[in-house]
Amino acid sequence: MRSIFYHSVVPRRDPADYYSMRSVDAAQFTQQVRWLARHRIVLSLAEVVELRQAGRALPRRAVHLSFDDGFHNNVVAAEILATYRVPWTLFALTNSVLDGYRPWYIRLADALAPARHAVGSATTRFDLSRYEDKNRLASLIKQRVLDAPFSSHLSVLDDELGRWKLELPAETRWKFLDIHQLRQLNAAGVEIGGHTATHPNLLRCTEDELRNEIVGSADRLAAALGRAVIAFSYPDGRLDARVRDIVAERFTLAMATHRPPLCDDIFAMRRWSVGSLAADLPRALHPMSGILLRARAMRTVIKHRVKSILRARNGISHPHAR
Ligand SMILES: [Zn+2]
Repeated sequence: MRSIFYHSVVPRRDPADYYSMRSVDAAQFTQQVRWLARHRIVLSLAEVVELRQAGRALPRRAVHLSFDDGFHNNVVAAEILATYRVPWTLFALTNSVLDGYRPWYIRLADALAPARHAVGSATTRFDLSRYEDKNRLASLIKQRVLDAPFSSHLSVLDDELGRWKLELPAETRWKFLDIHQLRQLNAAGVEIGGHTATHPNLLRCTEDELRNEIVGSADRLAAALGRAVIAFSYPDGRLDARVRDIVAERFTLAMATHRPPLCDDIFAMRRWSVGSLAADLPRALHPMSGILLRARAMRTVIKHRVKSILRARNGISHPHAR
């Protein structure tokens, strides 16, 4: 079975907005869903579990479709999916849908969106009126947050926002669904899964923090829905054996991204992200796409290595004036 996932469906993607790279245009999404309904067998997770428990093979053309995080714009996606009777799973961020909590990556997106200033030193300068620079700074900040222990995710983000003169707007541009909307979707047949409480880097959590983020958040979500929550998706697909084992204690299955370290594991099922380009869906469904993506990642690593070697060599042949 091929699993695909999305984050957001918006009327029209703003290519100048760094976070919109995680969105798909509604028109494009409609085309993708129509194609899936015609040419693939889209299964719910309940059907996947049932077939597996019965020891039966999944249909060759089986696909599973999910959304991560639980953004408010998923109501648009829900309508389109309902029109074509395509089942889907929504992996919701518990504290955002229950408490209106703004997770760190949305704070970053909100703070970067209106920024147009130039900032930094001569060596690391970012002109935030340029999309590429915004993207580059976003990656740098994201890496610093994710490298920090879970308990410091937010304070590291605050420090970074201060360092780069970014202000956090009071209003978010990326609203989440609330519990009423989630219940409505659930009542209409959408499966709701867990996606942690606050979207941390699970690899930087202590055991207690993992239990709270993975188990505690799912229990809260289940209580609020009045339904069992049996599936989980790892934020950014980050997992290791320690994280996976806690997930396996609580859930029936779990989904990662296309690069989980564990293979053929029902607690680390692979999923491919689909974007807004016409070629994105066929690419995500292509049986070779895992290999192609790995090859592309390898090429990027090699390119960076070569660049840094060349840079080091240039540094030696052109020493700075003393
Ligand atoms: Zn997520």
